[in-house]
Amino acid sequence: MTPRAAGLASRVVRWQRQHGRHDLPWQQGRDPYSVWLSEIMLQQTQVSTVKAYYARFLERFPDLQSLAAAKEDEVLALWSGLGYYSRARRLHQCARVIAEHHGGVFPGTAAELMTLPGIGRSTAAAIASFCFQERVAILDGNVKRVLTRVLGFAEDLAQPRHEQLLWREAEALLPRDPAQMPAYSQGLMDLGASVCSARQPMCAQCPVQDICVAYLEGDPGRYPVKTRRLARKQVALWLLHASDTQGRIGLVQRPATGIWARLHSLPAFESQEALLAACPQAGAPAARQHAPIRHALTHRELELHVVSVRLRRGMAVPQDGTWFEGAAWRALALPAPVRKFLEAPR
Ligand code: SF4
Repeated sequence: MTPRAAGLASRVVRWQRQHGRHDLPWQQGRDPYSVWLSEIMLQQTQVSTVKAYYARFLERFPDLQSLAAAKEDEVLALWSGLGYYSRARRLHQCARVIAEHHGGVFPGTAAELMTLPGIGRSTAAAIASFCFQERVAILDGNVKRVLTRVLGFAEDLAQPRHEQLLWREAEALLPRDPAQMPAYSQGLMDLGASVCSARQPMCAQCPVQDICVAYLEGDPGRYPVKTRRLARKQVALWLLHASDTQGRIGLVQRPATGIWARLHSLPAFESQEALLAACPQAGAPAARQHAPIRHALTHRELELHVVSVRLRRGMAVPQDGTWFEGAAWRALALPAPVRKFLEAPR
Protein backbone atom coordinates (compact mmCIF):
# COMPACT_ATOMS: atom_id res chain seq x y z
CA MET A 1 0.00 0.00 0.00
CA THR A 2 1.30 3.45 -0.87
CA PRO A 3 1.32 5.98 2.02
CA ARG A 4 -1.16 8.09 0.06
CA ALA A 5 -3.69 5.25 -0.22
CA ALA A 6 -3.84 4.99 3.58
CA GLY A 7 -6.43 7.77 3.48
CA LEU A 8 -8.76 5.81 1.20
CA ALA A 9 -11.10 4.36 3.85
CA SER A 10 -11.97 7.65 5.56
CA ARG A 11 -12.64 9.36 2.22
CA VAL A 12 -14.81 6.52 0.93
CA VAL A 13 -16.83 6.24 4.17
CA ARG A 14 -17.45 9.98 4.30
CA TRP A 15 -18.48 10.09 0.63
CA GLN A 16 -20.73 7.06 0.92
CA ARG A 17 -22.62 8.53 3.86
CA GLN A 18 -23.28 11.75 1.94
CA HIS A 19 -23.51 10.69 -1.70
CA GLY A 20 -23.69 6.90 -1.91
CA ARG A 21 -26.75 4.70 -2.43
CA HIS A 22 -28.97 4.23 0.62
CA ASP A 23 -32.33 3.39 -0.85
CA LEU A 24 -31.72 0.08 -2.58
CA PRO A 25 -34.34 -2.45 -1.47
CA TRP A 26 -31.77 -4.85 0.01
CA GLN A 27 -30.17 -2.10 2.10
CA GLN A 28 -33.23 -1.84 4.33
CA GLY A 29 -32.62 -3.85 7.48
CA ARG A 30 -29.45 -5.59 6.32
CA ASP A 31 -30.54 -9.11 7.10
CA PRO A 32 -28.23 -11.76 5.62
CA TYR A 33 -30.98 -13.42 3.57
CA SER A 34 -31.83 -10.29 1.58
CA VAL A 35 -28.19 -9.18 1.24
CA TRP A 36 -27.18 -12.65 0.03
CA LEU A 37 -30.06 -12.80 -2.46
CA SER A 38 -29.21 -9.36 -3.88
CA GLU A 39 -25.48 -10.13 -4.09
CA ILE A 40 -26.13 -13.32 -6.08
CA MET A 41 -28.58 -11.55 -8.40
CA LEU A 42 -26.17 -8.66 -8.93
CA GLN A 43 -23.25 -10.89 -9.92
CA GLN A 44 -23.93 -10.62 -13.65
CA THR A 45 -26.91 -8.30 -13.79
CA GLN A 46 -27.50 -4.55 -13.53
CA VAL A 47 -29.12 -3.02 -10.44
CA SER A 48 -32.07 -1.67 -12.46
CA THR A 49 -32.93 -5.18 -13.72
CA VAL A 50 -32.35 -6.87 -10.39
CA LYS A 51 -34.83 -4.65 -8.47
CA ALA A 52 -37.95 -6.15 -10.08
CA TYR A 53 -36.68 -9.75 -9.80
CA TYR A 54 -35.63 -9.19 -6.22
CA ALA A 55 -39.10 -7.93 -5.25
CA ARG A 56 -40.86 -10.86 -6.97
CA PHE A 57 -38.46 -13.37 -5.44
CA LEU A 58 -38.92 -12.01 -1.92
CA GLU A 59 -42.67 -11.97 -2.31
CA ARG A 60 -42.70 -15.68 -3.13
CA PHE A 61 -39.77 -16.66 -0.88
CA PRO A 62 -39.77 -14.18 2.02
CA ASP A 63 -37.23 -16.13 4.05
CA LEU A 64 -34.63 -18.83 3.84
CA GLN A 65 -37.01 -21.56 5.01
CA SER A 66 -39.52 -20.92 2.22
CA LEU A 67 -36.74 -20.98 -0.38
CA ALA A 68 -35.21 -24.16 1.03
CA ALA A 69 -38.60 -25.88 0.92
CA ALA A 70 -39.32 -24.90 -2.70
CA LYS A 71 -39.02 -27.11 -5.76
CA GLU A 72 -36.08 -26.27 -8.01
CA ASP A 73 -38.35 -25.78 -11.03
CA GLU A 74 -40.20 -23.00 -9.26
CA VAL A 75 -36.97 -21.27 -8.27
CA LEU A 76 -35.70 -21.46 -11.86
CA ALA A 77 -39.00 -20.17 -13.23
CA LEU A 78 -38.81 -17.09 -10.97
CA TRP A 79 -35.24 -16.58 -12.15
CA SER A 80 -36.25 -16.82 -15.79
CA GLY A 81 -34.93 -13.86 -17.74
CA LEU A 82 -32.05 -13.09 -15.36
CA GLY A 83 -29.85 -15.66 -17.13
CA TYR A 84 -26.91 -17.61 -15.70
CA TYR A 85 -29.25 -20.16 -14.14
CA SER A 86 -26.41 -21.87 -12.31
CA ARG A 87 -26.68 -18.95 -9.86
CA ALA A 88 -30.30 -19.87 -9.11
CA ARG A 89 -29.47 -23.56 -8.68
CA ARG A 90 -26.67 -22.83 -6.24
CA LEU A 91 -28.82 -20.29 -4.41
CA HIS A 92 -31.40 -23.00 -3.87
CA GLN A 93 -28.75 -25.56 -2.80
CA CYS A 94 -27.27 -23.01 -0.42
CA ALA A 95 -30.65 -22.36 1.22
CA ARG A 96 -31.06 -26.10 1.75
CA VAL A 97 -27.58 -26.49 3.23
CA ILE A 98 -28.18 -23.60 5.68
CA ALA A 99 -31.60 -25.02 6.62
CA GLU A 100 -30.27 -28.56 7.13
CA HIS A 101 -26.78 -27.98 8.55
CA HIS A 102 -26.83 -24.51 10.13
CA GLY A 103 -30.23 -24.53 11.84
CA GLY A 104 -31.61 -22.13 9.23
CA VAL A 105 -29.23 -19.35 10.34
CA PHE A 106 -26.55 -17.77 8.16
CA PRO A 107 -23.01 -18.32 9.49
CA GLY A 108 -21.59 -15.06 10.86
CA THR A 109 -18.13 -14.96 9.28
CA ALA A 110 -16.86 -14.66 5.73
CA ALA A 111 -14.70 -17.77 6.17
CA GLU A 112 -17.75 -19.90 7.05
CA LEU A 113 -19.95 -18.29 4.39
CA MET A 114 -17.38 -19.22 1.73
CA THR A 115 -17.92 -22.91 2.43
CA LEU A 116 -21.53 -22.66 1.18
CA PRO A 117 -22.64 -23.38 -2.42
CA GLY A 118 -22.39 -20.39 -4.76
CA ILE A 119 -20.78 -18.04 -2.23
CA GLY A 120 -17.32 -16.95 -3.35
CA ARG A 121 -14.82 -14.86 -1.47
CA SER A 122 -16.17 -11.47 -2.51
CA THR A 123 -19.84 -12.37 -1.94
CA ALA A 124 -18.98 -13.82 1.48
CA ALA A 125 -17.15 -10.62 2.35
CA ALA A 126 -20.05 -8.45 1.20
CA ILE A 127 -22.50 -10.35 3.43
CA ALA A 128 -20.10 -10.41 6.40
CA SER A 129 -19.18 -6.73 6.15
CA PHE A 130 -22.75 -5.48 5.57
CA CYS A 131 -24.51 -7.72 8.08
CA PHE A 132 -21.87 -8.54 10.70
CA GLN A 133 -19.47 -5.58 10.32
CA GLU A 134 -16.57 -7.97 9.77
CA ARG A 135 -13.31 -6.41 8.56
CA VAL A 136 -12.99 -8.33 5.27
CA ALA A 137 -12.20 -7.07 1.79
CA ILE A 138 -14.54 -7.33 -1.18
CA LEU A 139 -13.09 -7.45 -4.66
CA ASP A 140 -15.78 -7.63 -7.30
CA GLY A 141 -15.25 -6.16 -10.77
CA ASN A 142 -16.20 -2.60 -9.78
CA VAL A 143 -14.04 -2.62 -6.66
CA LYS A 144 -11.06 -4.05 -8.56
CA ARG A 145 -11.27 -1.15 -10.97
CA VAL A 146 -11.35 1.47 -8.20
CA LEU A 147 -8.52 -0.10 -6.19
CA THR A 148 -6.18 -0.77 -9.11
CA ARG A 149 -6.60 2.85 -10.20
CA VAL A 150 -6.14 4.35 -6.75
CA LEU A 151 -3.07 2.20 -6.10
CA GLY A 152 -1.68 2.34 -9.65
CA PHE A 153 -1.67 -1.47 -9.48
CA ALA A 154 -0.25 -2.40 -12.89
CA GLU A 155 0.25 -6.14 -12.39
CA ASP A 156 -1.62 -8.44 -14.75
CA LEU A 157 -4.70 -9.76 -12.90
CA ALA A 158 -4.87 -12.70 -15.31
CA GLN A 159 -2.22 -14.25 -13.09
CA PRO A 160 -3.59 -15.66 -9.82
CA ARG A 161 -0.56 -14.50 -7.80
CA HIS A 162 -1.23 -10.91 -8.85
CA GLU A 163 -4.87 -11.26 -7.92
CA GLN A 164 -3.74 -12.56 -4.52
CA LEU A 165 -1.50 -9.53 -4.19
CA LEU A 166 -4.44 -7.23 -4.86
CA TRP A 167 -6.50 -9.06 -2.20
CA ARG A 168 -3.72 -8.35 0.28
CA GLU A 169 -3.65 -4.68 -0.73
CA ALA A 170 -7.42 -4.52 -0.35
CA GLU A 171 -7.15 -5.99 3.17
CA ALA A 172 -4.49 -3.46 4.15
CA LEU A 173 -6.82 -0.62 3.10
CA LEU A 174 -9.76 -1.63 5.32
CA PRO A 175 -10.96 0.86 7.94
CA ARG A 176 -9.78 0.07 11.46
CA ASP A 177 -13.21 0.57 12.98
CA PRO A 178 -15.52 -2.39 12.16
CA ALA A 179 -18.54 -0.09 12.50
CA GLN A 180 -17.40 1.64 9.29
CA MET A 181 -17.35 -1.59 7.27
CA PRO A 182 -20.88 -1.38 5.80
CA ALA A 183 -20.33 2.20 4.56
CA TYR A 184 -16.83 1.39 3.29
CA SER A 185 -17.80 -1.75 1.33
CA GLN A 186 -20.90 -0.05 -0.07
CA GLY A 187 -18.87 3.07 -0.86
CA LEU A 188 -16.33 1.18 -2.95
CA MET A 189 -19.14 -0.55 -4.84
CA ASP A 190 -20.96 2.75 -5.38
CA LEU A 191 -17.80 4.50 -6.58
CA GLY A 192 -17.11 1.74 -9.08
CA ALA A 193 -20.73 1.69 -10.27
CA SER A 194 -21.07 5.44 -10.73
CA VAL A 195 -18.02 7.72 -10.53
CA CYS A 196 -15.14 5.42 -11.48
CA SER A 197 -16.74 3.80 -14.51
CA ALA A 198 -14.74 1.64 -16.90
CA ARG A 199 -14.78 3.98 -19.91
CA GLN A 200 -15.42 7.48 -18.60
CA PRO A 201 -14.40 7.92 -14.99
CA MET A 202 -15.64 11.21 -13.55
CA CYS A 203 -12.45 12.06 -11.69
CA ALA A 204 -13.56 15.65 -11.10
CA GLN A 205 -16.35 14.36 -8.83
CA CYS A 206 -14.33 11.63 -7.17
CA PRO A 207 -13.69 11.78 -3.41
CA VAL A 208 -10.33 9.99 -3.75
CA GLN A 209 -8.95 11.99 -6.65
CA ASP A 210 -6.18 13.53 -4.53
CA ILE A 211 -4.73 10.12 -3.66
CA CYS A 212 -5.44 8.30 -6.95
CA VAL A 213 -2.31 7.24 -8.83
CA ALA A 214 -4.19 6.64 -12.11
CA TYR A 215 -5.59 10.16 -11.98
CA LEU A 216 -2.18 11.64 -11.21
CA GLU A 217 -0.70 9.67 -14.11
CA GLY A 218 -3.50 10.99 -16.34
CA ASP A 219 -4.52 7.56 -17.63
CA PRO A 220 -7.21 5.76 -15.56
CA GLY A 221 -8.14 3.59 -18.57
CA ARG A 222 -4.85 1.77 -18.14
CA TYR A 223 -6.22 -0.04 -15.08
CA PRO A 224 -7.06 -2.76 -14.29
CA VAL A 225 -4.56 -4.75 -16.38
CA LYS A 226 -5.85 -8.15 -17.46
CA THR A 227 -4.37 -9.70 -20.58
CA ARG A 228 -6.00 -13.08 -20.93
CA ARG A 229 -9.19 -13.20 -22.89
CA LEU A 230 -11.55 -16.04 -22.23
CA ALA A 231 -11.42 -18.40 -25.20
CA ARG A 232 -14.99 -19.48 -25.86
CA LYS A 233 -15.72 -22.69 -27.70
CA GLN A 234 -17.96 -22.25 -30.74
CA VAL A 235 -21.03 -24.48 -30.67
CA ALA A 236 -23.78 -24.66 -33.31
CA LEU A 237 -27.24 -25.87 -32.31
CA TRP A 238 -30.33 -26.45 -34.42
CA LEU A 239 -33.58 -25.60 -32.65
CA LEU A 240 -36.98 -26.85 -33.71
CA HIS A 241 -39.72 -24.25 -33.23
CA ALA A 242 -42.75 -26.47 -33.67
CA SER A 243 -46.24 -25.10 -33.26
CA ASP A 244 -49.49 -26.90 -33.97
CA THR A 245 -52.76 -25.84 -35.53
CA GLN A 246 -54.06 -24.85 -32.08
CA GLY A 247 -51.18 -22.38 -31.59
CA ARG A 248 -49.42 -24.54 -29.01
CA ILE A 249 -45.62 -24.66 -28.84
CA GLY A 250 -43.54 -27.81 -28.41
CA LEU A 251 -40.89 -27.61 -25.66
CA VAL A 252 -38.63 -30.12 -23.95
CA GLN A 253 -37.03 -30.07 -20.53
CA ARG A 254 -33.25 -30.24 -20.99
CA PRO A 255 -31.12 -32.95 -19.34
CA ALA A 256 -29.69 -32.34 -15.85
CA THR A 257 -26.19 -31.64 -17.22
CA GLY A 258 -24.77 -29.64 -20.12
CA ILE A 259 -26.02 -26.46 -21.78
CA TRP A 260 -29.24 -25.06 -20.27
CA ALA A 261 -29.46 -27.90 -17.74
CA ARG A 262 -33.06 -28.65 -16.66
CA LEU A 263 -34.47 -25.55 -18.37
CA HIS A 264 -37.31 -25.81 -20.86
CA SER A 265 -36.23 -25.17 -24.43
CA LEU A 266 -37.13 -25.69 -28.04
CA PRO A 267 -35.89 -29.19 -28.97
CA ALA A 268 -32.18 -28.77 -29.76
CA PHE A 269 -30.04 -30.82 -32.17
CA GLU A 270 -26.35 -30.88 -32.97
CA SER A 271 -26.91 -30.71 -36.73
CA GLN A 272 -29.53 -29.91 -39.34
CA GLU A 273 -29.54 -33.59 -40.31
CA ALA A 274 -30.40 -34.64 -36.78
CA LEU A 275 -33.22 -32.09 -36.63
CA LEU A 276 -34.65 -33.31 -39.96
CA ALA A 277 -34.39 -36.94 -38.88
CA ALA A 278 -36.47 -36.13 -35.78
CA CYS A 279 -38.94 -33.93 -37.67
CA PRO A 280 -38.96 -34.45 -41.46
CA GLN A 281 -41.68 -31.78 -41.81
CA ALA A 282 -38.98 -29.19 -40.99
CA GLY A 283 -37.53 -29.87 -44.46
CA ALA A 284 -40.78 -29.03 -46.28
CA PRO A 285 -41.07 -25.76 -48.27
CA ALA A 286 -43.54 -24.39 -45.71
CA ALA A 287 -40.94 -24.60 -42.94
CA ARG A 288 -38.99 -21.42 -42.22
CA GLN A 289 -35.35 -21.12 -41.29
CA HIS A 290 -34.48 -17.95 -39.35
CA ALA A 291 -31.26 -15.94 -39.45
CA PRO A 292 -28.72 -17.44 -37.01
CA ILE A 293 -28.80 -16.09 -33.45
CA ARG A 294 -25.51 -15.61 -31.62
CA HIS A 295 -25.47 -16.00 -27.87
CA ALA A 296 -22.46 -16.02 -25.53
CA LEU A 297 -22.34 -18.29 -22.49
CA THR A 298 -19.49 -18.20 -19.99
CA HIS A 299 -17.40 -20.78 -21.85
CA ARG A 300 -19.22 -21.15 -25.14
CA GLU A 301 -20.29 -19.05 -28.08
CA LEU A 302 -23.56 -20.44 -29.39
CA GLU A 303 -24.79 -20.12 -32.96
CA LEU A 304 -28.47 -21.00 -32.94
CA HIS A 305 -30.30 -21.99 -36.13
CA VAL A 306 -34.04 -21.97 -35.53
CA VAL A 307 -36.43 -23.73 -37.90
CA SER A 308 -40.14 -22.96 -37.56
CA VAL A 309 -42.66 -25.56 -38.64
CA ARG A 310 -46.40 -26.03 -38.17
CA LEU A 311 -47.37 -29.60 -37.24
CA ARG A 312 -50.75 -31.24 -37.52
CA ARG A 313 -52.85 -31.67 -34.41
CA GLY A 314 -52.04 -34.86 -32.56
CA MET A 315 -48.41 -35.09 -33.68
CA ALA A 316 -45.81 -35.67 -30.96
CA VAL A 317 -43.16 -33.12 -29.99
CA PRO A 318 -39.71 -34.59 -30.80
CA GLN A 319 -37.44 -35.60 -27.92
CA ASP A 320 -40.47 -36.55 -25.77
CA GLY A 321 -41.41 -32.90 -25.48
CA THR A 322 -44.72 -31.38 -24.42
CA TRP A 323 -47.15 -29.04 -26.13
CA PHE A 324 -47.69 -25.86 -24.16
CA GLU A 325 -50.91 -23.90 -24.64
CA GLY A 326 -51.07 -20.22 -25.53
CA ALA A 327 -48.82 -18.30 -23.19
CA ALA A 328 -48.22 -21.14 -20.68
CA TRP A 329 -44.57 -21.30 -21.73
CA ARG A 330 -44.00 -17.79 -20.41
CA ALA A 331 -44.07 -19.05 -16.81
CA LEU A 332 -41.32 -21.62 -17.48
CA ALA A 333 -37.59 -21.21 -16.95
CA LEU A 334 -36.31 -20.76 -20.50
CA PRO A 335 -32.81 -19.96 -21.82
CA ALA A 336 -32.55 -16.23 -22.58
CA PRO A 337 -32.18 -16.55 -26.38
CA VAL A 338 -35.09 -19.00 -26.60
CA ARG A 339 -37.33 -16.67 -24.59
CA LYS A 340 -36.27 -13.75 -26.76
CA PHE A 341 -37.04 -15.70 -29.91
CA LEU A 342 -40.49 -16.78 -28.70
CA GLU A 343 -41.37 -13.29 -27.52
CA ALA A 344 -40.35 -11.61 -30.79
CA PRO A 345 -43.28 -10.51 -32.95
CA ARG A 346 -43.59 -12.50 -36.12
S1 SF4 B 1 -9.84 9.73 -9.46
FE1 SF4 B 1 -10.73 8.93 -11.31
S2 SF4 B 1 -9.62 7.05 -11.74
FE2 SF4 B 1 -9.21 7.60 -9.61
S3 SF4 B 1 -10.70 6.44 -8.45
FE3 SF4 B 1 -11.55 8.45 -8.82
S4 SF4 B 1 -12.77 8.24 -10.70
FE4 SF4 B 1 -11.42 6.46 -10.55
